[in-house]
Amino acid sequence: MDTRISGTTRLLGLIGDPVRHSASPLMHNFCFNYYGMDCVFLAFSSTLEQTAETLQAARRLNMRGLSVTMPCKREAARLVDRLSPAAELVGAVNTIVNDGGVLTGYITDGLGLVLDLRDHGQEVAGRDLVLLGAGGAAMAILAQCALEGARSVTVLNRSREGLDRAAALGERIAEKGLACRVTCVPLAGGAALRQAVQGAQVLINATSAGMAPAQAGLSPVEDPAALHRDLTVYDVIYNPACTRLMEQARQQGCRLVLGGKGMLLWQASEAFRLFTGKPMPVEALKAYLAQQ
Ligand code: NAP
Repeated sequence: MDTRISGTTRLLGLIGDPVRHSASPLMHNFCFNYYGMDCVFLAFSSTLEQTAETLQAARRLNMRGLSVTMPCKREAARLVDRLSPAAELVGAVNTIVNDGGVLTGYITDGLGLVLDLRDHGQEVAGRDLVLLGAGGAAMAILAQCALEGARSVTVLNRSREGLDRAAALGERIAEKGLACRVTCVPLAGGAALRQAVQGAQVLINATSAGMAPAQAGLSPVEDPAALHRDLTVYDVIYNPACTRLMEQARQQGCRLVLGGKGMLLWQASEAFRLFTGKPMPVEALKAYLAQQ
């Protein structure tokens, strides 16, 4: 048993279903140990229907915070007391901080990508971006890029449903007075993508095309010639570490090509900062995770 745990230890946890295979407990507990903090992070299976009861339990047990995964992200956003600007735009949370019974919800996925790009010397402010996909990850990225001051985001998605979701978020972004121009285009054939990418500096893949095991080897880009040399290509997929799209981008000589591991780490880092007020010891954590 962990000898740090005592009568004063503060509890934090991950909620959602499934949660058993999450790396969050390993990462957060490593960081608590690193700082000698009197905190412990556990995983709690919680279905959509149990979300309200689980949040009430977090208040009752004076838990410091929660990480939230599927299927609870949207329901939790509806139930917390306050929302960050990004969480309000998206209508979903992945992090909740409890300040004396007042729960504030945040969504850190989009910021994870922005911080990883910054770590590689790239800002989204003033840039024209192309975003592939309109699912949960894509919507968090779209909201954060708008908040960061991106000049435009062109969203390409396969289904009508996804395009409607992105267009609705684009309207909320405009209603908030954010200057980012959001355009939604069907992802069909190569022409739409080629045209969108032509004047863009950053291409982000937030679709599952390329993700192992079901879609390994696939790319959302049919014609790699569309990927010009001045383009930064960011694939949010972290398994595999190098996707087909990343291979295509490297072959085309794109200026910077990144996979999703950094986004995963930086979104967790932002959650840790919200929970504790301290920076996540990223380099020490990377070394620890490499040994696991
Ligand atoms: P999601 O909500 O299910 O959305 C999936 C998106 O991918 C939809 O827009 C869907 O389009 C599109 N899509 C799926 N297969 C496609 C294909 N073969 N061709 C074109 N489009 C396709 O999933 P999500 O939670 O947003 O996750 C998306 C990806 O991001 C996953 O690979 C996930 O692992 C990754 N992710 C990474 C991080 C990170 O920290 N690095 C964080 C979150 C998610 P339709 O609307 O047409 O179905």
